[in-house]
Amino acid sequence: MLVGDAPRGVVIIGATGSIGRAALQVVALHPERLRVAALAALSSWEEACQVARASGAEALALADPIAARRARAALDGSGIAVLDGEDGVRAVAAWPTASITLVAPTGLAGLGPVLAALEAGRDVALANKETLVAAGRLVTSTARRHGARLLPVDSEHSGIFQCLRGRQAQAVRRLWLTASGGPFLRWSAERLATATPEEALRHPTWRMGARVTIDSATLFNKGLEVIEASWLFGVTPESVQVLVHPQSVVHSLVEYVDGSFLAQCAPPDMRLPIAHALSYPEVWPQDAWPRLDLSAIGRLDFEPPDVERFPCLGLVREAARVGRGAPAAANAADEVAVARFLREEIAFLDIPRVVEAALAAHTPVDEGDLDALWAADRQARHVAGQWRARVQSAAQGGGR
Ligand code: MG
Repeated sequence: MLVGDAPRGVVIIGATGSIGRAALQVVALHPERLRVAALAALSSWEEACQVARASGAEALALADPIAARRARAALDGSGIAVLDGEDGVRAVAAWPTASITLVAPTGLAGLGPVLAALEAGRDVALANKETLVAAGRLVTSTARRHGARLLPVDSEHSGIFQCLRGRQAQAVRRLWLTASGGPFLRWSAERLATATPEEALRHPTWRMGARVTIDSATLFNKGLEVIEASWLFGVTPESVQVLVHPQSVVHSLVEYVDGSFLAQCAPPDMRLPIAHALSYPEVWPQDAWPRLDLSAIGRLDFEPPDVERFPCLGLVREAARVGRGAPAAANAADEVAVARFLREEIAFLDIPRVVEAALAAHTPVDEGDLDALWAADRQARHVAGQWRARVQSAAQGGGR
């Protein structure tokens, strides 16, 4: 870094979630290189206000208008601008004094801010995979048109991004994503049938939000990551492979046409891929987190995923093959199914059944049409929300 360089302005969308908090820590570790320009959150206004003050943010957006009103009162006289609603979040995503926007919220909530940031020519540090799953074509073409970069924050994709640096695209044969296998790696199908939310939330190696933790237990998350990788790196979903690797030390590998593999290894700590995206193309020294001690780890195991016990991976692959809004439908159905599992309305093994039902009911749409994608999303949510009723009415002979 040159002496006199101003710190890079960072926007964090989803500042009160687990990725957002980790990103705030990364910014705080590099005060001479990074500063918080603006923040957005959904509705946790008290934490958001506190973080906005502490980080010196110029603006705070809250998607929930009532939370925004409270924040405006709390920050009165602070000089921090408070914006509200989806428009407010998009305005913050394209904040004029920022050069990079980290988008953390899960689900399609991330799409508006991603597009707003890219259209303003901001680089996007992307932690929201659903954006690419549902609208990959739209997002990548918008980035290209505005000369903005998409920098992966998902740990596996950050690893691939690092392994690809300086190599030609034609040299790549396949991409490999690793999966820890989640808490149920060795569970029998019988035992999986009675898995509780509490058991599914006990991830062996990563601390993450609830949805992604459940999606790791079903391997649905890995399916989303296959599609995410195909858009980020311009390859087909078929050329993205999955390996179960319980130690979560190797995050991903790139297989080259000459037979060599490059692997990226790091401790399972989200601050690392976040720091990589925010510092890109530089790499900054860091000792805030423990280093890998490979001799203490001793061994690294790999095995193929069991698609029989964990059908979600195959379902998402099939949705990717079909395209035309099917990945958006699968994602929306899974979000509802996970929420229903967490409320104990459906069983763990019902999650793939709900996704399958939504895919069967999906009507193909034009993937470049945002309204059509939203409609597919809504329809899949409806099917997923009604799923039990359908099964029951079918059992009673009252339905199809
Ligand atoms: Mg990941």
